[in-house]
Amino acid sequence: MAKNKRDIRAFTKEQLRSFFETQGDKAFRGNQVYEWLWQKSAHTFEDMTNISKETRQMLEDNFVINHIKVDQMQRSSDGTIKNAVRLHDDLIVESVLIPTKTRTTACVSSQVGCSLDCKFCATARLKRMRNLNPDEIYDQVVAIDNESRLYFDRPLSNIVFMGMGEPLMNYNNVLKAIDKITSPEGLGMSPKRIIVSTSGVPKMIRKMADEQVKFKLAVSLHSAIDEIRTSIMPFNAKFTLADLRESLEYWYLKTKSRITYEYVVWDGINDTQNDANALVDFCRFAPSKVNLIEYNPIDDGEFQQAKNAAIEMYVSTLERNGITVTVRRSRGKDIDAACGQLANKS
Ligand code: SAH
Repeated sequence: MAKNKRDIRAFTKEQLRSFFETQGDKAFRGNQVYEWLWQKSAHTFEDMTNISKETRQMLEDNFVINHIKVDQMQRSSDGTIKNAVRLHDDLIVESVLIPTKTRTTACVSSQVGCSLDCKFCATARLKRMRNLNPDEIYDQVVAIDNESRLYFDRPLSNIVFMGMGEPLMNYNNVLKAIDKITSPEGLGMSPKRIIVSTSGVPKMIRKMADEQVKFKLAVSLHSAIDEIRTSIMPFNAKFTLADLRESLEYWYLKTKSRITYEYVVWDGINDTQNDANALVDFCRFAPSKVNLIEYNPIDDGEFQQAKNAAIEMYVSTLERNGITVTVRRSRGKDIDAACGQLANKS
């Protein structure tokens, strides 16, 4: 009965090996199945051609492979691709392929919806339904790798956890997915090519530091002044800037890894010299990079991209203080695939 079947990708290799032993088979069969599940990303037991028919049937009777399905793929005029991804329980998340001349970046989701309440983000308007499992995160990456090979003739090169959800609120599953992505038994990608982006959950940043993770960290800051940050990112009332800053100092102490800040400058919200100075004060304790990202309007006009003069003021203030700064243009806007626009609209 389908109800009692277990999700086979929740099993470790060791567990699969002992499962086969208890079936009176060789432990090695577990390695073979594991390879099909992860490295070869098999969608069905039928695909496992070096496994006997009887064994495949036995697996079929006991387990399911909850593979994602790319329900709909949209291509932007700039080459960006957005996938609407259907999960086994029919919930939908989105992931995005972002091509440049030399790279393909996958922007993947970590939760269905989001529990945070950033006022400027379309995903925040969806209820957080559930966390994604490690295999559901992994599958999004595999789907984009396949699309990259098909449409751009090269493998995926980078991954950013900047899709739907707050990765540090689904920490264990995100870490398990990254383990699979970086393992030679999975996709074998370098952790240096992976960025986990967070709105800033201090406790989890400290935990990541303690665990000496090898991927990179980005923080969606948007303001270094508590009052302003709380007004646009209300959870900041609980996770204050002082606490966030302390956790980042700890991160840097432990990992020596540069921190990237994502920052949108809005008209009348955070566009003064005082705001830029606060940003400098916040991030100059460690080597930092600030990405000034373009605002992607999400309908109601409450937020507006700051004037060019304000962006230039930020750039010169940061540069004067020795902080690397880039001004990033959005990609995939015409298909609602840009930062903060993921909301299962089509
Ligand atoms: N929750 C994580 C992962 C989401 S990343 C995080 O906050 O980092 C999505 C990025 O897009 C974040 O930097 C977010 O602040 C930014 N963003 C959200 N809405 C946006 C919008 N409308 N325009 C531009 N950037 C936006």
